[in-house]
Amino acid sequence: MNNSDKINVTKTFFPPLDEYQNQLERIWKNEWLTNRGELVNELEEKLKSYLHVPNIIVMNNGTVPIQIALKLLAKQGEVITTPFSYVATSASIVWENCTPVFVDIHPEYLTIDETKIEAAITEKTTCILATHVFGNPCNVEAIEQIAQKHQLKVIYDAAHCFGVKYKGESIFNYGNVSTCSFHATKLFHTGEGGAVFCKDEELNHKLYYSHNFGHNGPLDFHGLGINGKISELQAAMGLSVLPYMEQILAGRKKVVNFYNEQLNHRNIQSLKIREETEWNYSYYPVIFESEERLLQVQKKMNENNIYPRRYFYPSLNTINYLNETEMPISESVAKRVLCLPLYASLERNEYKRISTLIL
Ligand SMILES: *Cc1c(COP(=O)(O)O)cnc(C)c1O
Repeated sequence: MNNSDKINVTKTFFPPLDEYQNQLERIWKNEWLTNRGELVNELEEKLKSYLHVPNIIVMNNGTVPIQIALKLLAKQGEVITTPFSYVATSASIVWENCTPVFVDIHPEYLTIDETKIEAAITEKTTCILATHVFGNPCNVEAIEQIAQKHQLKVIYDAAHCFGVKYKGESIFNYGNVSTCSFHATKLFHTGEGGAVFCKDEELNHKLYYSHNFGHNGPLDFHGLGINGKISELQAAMGLSVLPYMEQILAGRKKVVNFYNEQLNHRNIQSLKIREETEWNYSYYPVIFESEERLLQVQKKMNENNIYPRRYFYPSLNTINYLNETEMPISESVAKRVLCLPLYASLERNEYKRISTLIL
């Protein structure tokens, strides 16, 4: 398949092949492929210092850590969540035999509307699972207060948040647990991969053994577990990509600044980033005045071999196995939002052409 002249919403960053090969040679020398080898440990140490977090457990993807966190914290209760996220967020709730209770989103920040959370709390509520949408933080302070008042746990799906800081601190340090995805389409990647972040040492220990079958040494068990381990091969990719983060961010910033200047138009709404956020340029959503307009723009772009994506569509409350409570803001935004191509190697003539087509 030749994808070379097609412009997609994102393009996976490939580090120089010889640098990946150098990492692979270490694996061959060690003759050690998984079960937390030298490369996984090194990747965790490097990520801890890059992200300024006290703990990290790198895992096989960004969904298993959400499921493990829900298993430990939500205990099959009602989980308050956002309808505007990737399907992994609400699917994990159902997968863990919990009940998703949707709360609508803020029309500009696109994160869960914290002022509507308390009305959704019942005796069965155990947890809030909210997404920092497109790397834009939820109102973490308000959510923390509500959680304390009602004794709820907070999990953040921070799949989009690699490198995001809020009030000078890693966004991964908020909530009882935060998760991230290192999927090939994400900002930092290991091909497939993800991570969980937890400041509380006791809970971190539970997360750790839960991702390794519950093992306490070869013959004993701390408790129930599953396989959430990442392999050395994936860690090798992570170690090869990490040195390029500055370059990746700078390239994306250039595109975002251009879109911001060009698409500053009364009929196009772009993402409002929460105050005091150091954002990571992970996605560029534009919200049109109608779905009809979105479909026109999408068609025009496709004719020009440009493929933006409808992230996130549909609103999760409308999926067949979920409940049908109406979420007017999320449903309306989901129908009108398109994520534009955004990656470091996107060329100036390309993002110029994209802006022109939209306008
Ligand atoms: C990508 C993504 C996930 C899932 O991550 P995987 O690594 O693909 O399992 C979860 N939540 C959100 C919001 C995502 O964008």
